[in-house]
Amino acid sequence: MPEGKIVKALSGFYYVLQDENLIQCRGRGVFRKNKITPLVGDEVVFQAENNLEGYILEVKERKNELIRPPIANVDQAILVFSAVEPDFSTVLLDRFLVLVEFNHIEPLICITKMDLTNQDQKKQISEYAEQYKRAGYEVILTSSETEAGIELLNPHIENKISVFAGQSGVGKSSLLNVLRPDLELKTNGISSHLGRGKHTTRHVELIRIGNGLIADTPGFSSLEFTNIDAEDLTYCFPELQKASENCKFRGCLHVTEPKCGVKPAVESGEIPAYRYEHYLDFLQEIKDRKPRY
Ligand code: GDP
Ligand code: ZN
Repeated sequence: MPEGKIVKALSGFYYVLQDENLIQCRGRGVFRKNKITPLVGDEVVFQAENNLEGYILEVKERKNELIRPPIANVDQAILVFSAVEPDFSTVLLDRFLVLVEFNHIEPLICITKMDLTNQDQKKQISEYAEQYKRAGYEVILTSSETEAGIELLNPHIENKISVFAGQSGVGKSSLLNVLRPDLELKTNGISSHLGRGKHTTRHVELIRIGNGLIADTPGFSSLEFTNIDAEDLTYCFPELQKASENCKFRGCLHVTEPKCGVKPAVESGEIPAYRYEHYLDFLQEIKDRKPRY
């Protein structure tokens, strides 16, 4: 039986990509029985009626599932942050990183609008980029205006399902336009797909970029740490996680505990002070959260 990937769901049809072919499929009753609704991103087994139409017979087990937008098997979140306009914010980036790490999705940091930076801003952004790389992240500096750095982005998109994340106006639609100029998506964050308000319900579609797929709707629009517990937070900061191997006590939250491995790493400069401060702020936010039930 042929297998493929759902790249679009619309009006009861699932569009399954198999190699270069797009097959319009309907679901068979099995899904209602198993209470599975096929999602964009699902790997499916289908029966082809002809070259264009078929029936989905089986949805393969999912590696993960995003709720907004509804996509299964997301490999990567491309965190889009502009160097300027709006200014680069480490606290916002760290917040996105926590949410992405918590969902076990690989983050990629893409800093846009580098063409708008002056020398000082360039230097500052490069320093941040080095620090995030040292923490274990991939960082790419780009400009959709000059297309600088886009060639560095391309290999990271291959053979993956990616979603963009980031504030409105940072250049997500512009990046998609550079990657797929033929689509002519509107920019400015107003009428573009990626700039739509989060309350707009619409279908999500995976756009092909070479051998990769990118969702046309950004993810991680809610920046709340709703399901994250205090003990989970260390795991969402890879360099803190590494340093915490030297904490004497299990369950150390690296605040005032004795013999903590994280605090010396911050004092020595191995972990940037702002990363630790953001960790402490987020921890407090989680502790202050009203009980969920
Ligand atoms: P989105 O809301 O994240 O999708 O952001 P858009 O792609 O709509 O971009 C917001 C504004 O920033 C638009 O006016 C774009 O033309 C502009 N913009 C985006 N990327 C760049 C860039 O790399 N350089 C410059 N100079 N402007 C950019
Ligand atoms: Zn500790």
